[in-house]
Amino acid sequence: MPAKKRCQRPGEPRCNSAALRIVGDCSHCGMSFCGTHRLPEHHACLKMAECRQEAFERNKERLESERTVAAKIVG
Ligand SMILES: [Zn+2]
Ligand SMILES: [Zn+2]
Repeated sequence: MPAKKRCQRPGEPRCNSAALRIVGDCSHCGMSFCGTHRLPEHHACLKMAECRQEAFERNKERLESERTVAAKIVG
């Protein structure tokens, strides 16, 4: 029998809860977490900063393209 996976939340104190199968896997950092820590916000996800940055860049691009369109209409 394989050992049960533990929540991989980094930092102290270590979380001793068993990681949830499938839904406990973070799609951003790929680690496994318990029900309490499975959300990126709750395990200080290493990839969350990257995700935020990506969303920010996407949003910026969108705003800039909208502005360009608006400028074309006005000008
Ligand atoms: Zn946990
Ligand atoms: Zn994560």
